[in-house]
Amino acid sequence: MPLTPAPRDPREALVHPAHADRLRADLELGLDRLIGRLAGVRAATPGTTSAGARALARRIAGTDLDRPGVDLATALDELDELWLRDAVWFHEPGYAAHLNCPVVAPAVLAELMVALVNPSIDTVDQSMGATFVEQRLIAWTAGRLGFDADHADGVFTPGGTTSNLHGLHLARDEARERTGAPLERMRVIASVDAHMSVDRAARLLGLPADAVLAVPVDHRRRMDPGALARCLDAVRATGLVPMAVVATAGTTDHGAIDPLPRIAAIAAEHRAWLHVDAAYGGGLLLSTTHRHRLEGIEHADSVTVDFHKTFFQPVACSALVVRTAASLRHVAWHADYLNPADAGGADELPGDQVAKSLQTTRRFDPLKLWLSLRVLGADTLGAYVDRIVDLAAASYRRLADEPHLELRTEPELTTLLLRYTAPGLDDAALDDLVPRIRAALAAEGRAVVAATRVEGRRWLKLTLLNPLAEIEDVVAIGRAIVTAGHALAPSAAEVEVA
Ligand SMILES: *Cc1c(COP(=O)(O)O)cnc(C)c1O
Repeated sequence: MPLTPAPRDPREALVHPAHADRLRADLELGLDRLIGRLAGVRAATPGTTSAGARALARRIAGTDLDRPGVDLATALDELDELWLRDAVWFHEPGYAAHLNCPVVAPAVLAELMVALVNPSIDTVDQSMGATFVEQRLIAWTAGRLGFDADHADGVFTPGGTTSNLHGLHLARDEARERTGAPLERMRVIASVDAHMSVDRAARLLGLPADAVLAVPVDHRRRMDPGALARCLDAVRATGLVPMAVVATAGTTDHGAIDPLPRIAAIAAEHRAWLHVDAAYGGGLLLSTTHRHRLEGIEHADSVTVDFHKTFFQPVACSALVVRTAASLRHVAWHADYLNPADAGGADELPGDQVAKSLQTTRRFDPLKLWLSLRVLGADTLGAYVDRIVDLAAASYRRLADEPHLELRTEPELTTLLLRYTAPGLDDAALDDLVPRIRAALAAEGRAVVAATRVEGRRWLKLTLLNPLAEIEDVVAIGRAIVTAGHALAPSAAEVEVA
């Protein structure tokens, strides 16, 4: 008979000083497994196929969650099978798909601390200290943006999608207050490459389906300011209200940075709220060599920064920062049980954040950025950003020389668009190869790359966010694309017959 673990008092599972030894033992067991797993990782994935994914989904769906608990070691064994064995690892140079970053160690420790203490940073009475850490980090970010830190404000959010919604919420209510115009007449102007969350936010905010106007971009996918000015003229001429202009500092598909100074001047001329979506490009705030690429961002009314992209923080960690603190009044909401509107007086604790946020209970996500800055310093994170920006530029030059690869344009941030080419294959055949090459690389586990469409053509996309990657790693991905392309491309004979 196998030994069954002694039933333990279920109350011991609750974090408590009396159970500290038990907690330490559990954490050590988990840590051993986790570090053991990490130490054995040799590739971004062990190989991902759709059949494998379906089988895994079935196994997880079949787990009986009502069965009495297994011991921790068994549960961790199971988790290794169900999750970690197939996990995608972002520190591996073969991972170059989406905007996922490797994370810094102090941030990982901060995550554990946050989970153990478990404060909610909506009101100070439940998060003493934590709230002030959030406020300090918002002021710091505002300073980096070039805002007057005494007048700026903001809150942490779970991601750029929420930050963009929050910024546009403020823009909407500002426009409504100023013009009295109904929602049907409000328009948001962004480039054709703006993040999809801008459209989604407009719909959630009650704007009509055609409220987001897409301004064309130049050959490097940056918003065309002349076209923006014409768009705003047309909006005003037809009696519509330019509620907001959204500039993107680092587009998701190209890493393009819209020309912020010119856009800011045009938005100001039309009294439109300027929201800058720097979810991707925000890391440049830390760079000593590339910070100038964000010049003009200081004119924004609101800015989205995703720390979980180019600040090397674990998900979730983002912020919405506003140039004028008072603009946050538009989302203020009061509840008698939390932050009554008639609160006040000398005994009141200073600094509740709940009225500034779209959330109520809010995780202490700022702590990971805090510990990262305190231990590593902003310059270290900035040097990582420099490294990946320089890596992308150098990779572009190297890959552009490879036969059978076509690159789209020089990267502005860390995104490269490329495709396999071969003589005798037309555009349709080459387009058809893009998803097949991508799937072949993922199945082998050699490289994880993304794909997108530009002007109707398909491209493979490399997003380079790994400061540990070397140029040879990126060249290897390029060569793997060529190898897969050769294997999958119809032969010259087949092309002839077709
Ligand atoms: C990633 C991204 C977003 C969305 O951010 P999430 O953190 O994924 O919600 C918004 N805008 C841009 C430009 C992005 O790259």
